[in-house]
Amino acid sequence: MTRPKASFDIDIAVDRLREAVRPFPKAMLFQLYEDGHTSAFEILVACLISVRTRDETSLAMARRLFAQARTPTAIAKMDINAIDALIDKCAFHLVKSEQINTLARLIVEENAGELPCSFELMTSYPGIGPKCASLALGIACGQPRIGVDIHVHRITNRWGYVKARTPEQTMTALGAVLPERYHVEINALLVPFGKHICTPVGPKCSSCPLLDMCQQRGVESSR
Ligand code: SF4
Repeated sequence: MTRPKASFDIDIAVDRLREAVRPFPKAMLFQLYEDGHTSAFEILVACLISVRTRDETSLAMARRLFAQARTPTAIAKMDINAIDALIDKCAFHLVKSEQINTLARLIVEENAGELPCSFELMTSYPGIGPKCASLALGIACGQPRIGVDIHVHRITNRWGYVKARTPEQTMTALGAVLPERYHVEINALLVPFGKHICTPVGPKCSSCPLLDMCQQRGVESSR
């Protein structure tokens, strides 16, 4: 007989998630911030590098680029091929190199080399969507923004905490139910949780610390 599920308590879930992800590497944007890459520009560029690219590769590429240049002024002076040579292991690296160069040049030309903490401005730049803007604003600017990537989208829907078809809809739905104190942390928790426990295929439900409260929506087979 299947046990009835407890109702989903986000405070209990976050406590258990913090414990569950302790052994795993941190999500790469949070790791970069901890390493001293604390500007909104660096987090935004690193997020752009990470699109469709594994965290480990993105982290190495971002570190390589920032070792050469880490401000809009310094990157605006680099030629696109020089940027490309530093981030060449990430997906769509040439397109991203052009976008990073354009981003840096626009910030130098229009904002004297300083990137303001503005969602509207960030999402007006080529290649920058709501996810990267929210992560940069949340991590580097201290704003209560929810960065919804594929992990946050998949897992919060599996829980039954939200019901949404796209990451953008999940961002809106989470904004209505997730307490503000967890808006930034939810991404830091669910990236490693999604890579190691609540994986896209075959999530490890039998040993998951949230099994008693998770609705397991859409999970067809688990371990
Ligand atoms: S019980 Fe399964 S579906 Fe739910 S959070 Fe845990 S691993 Fe994911």
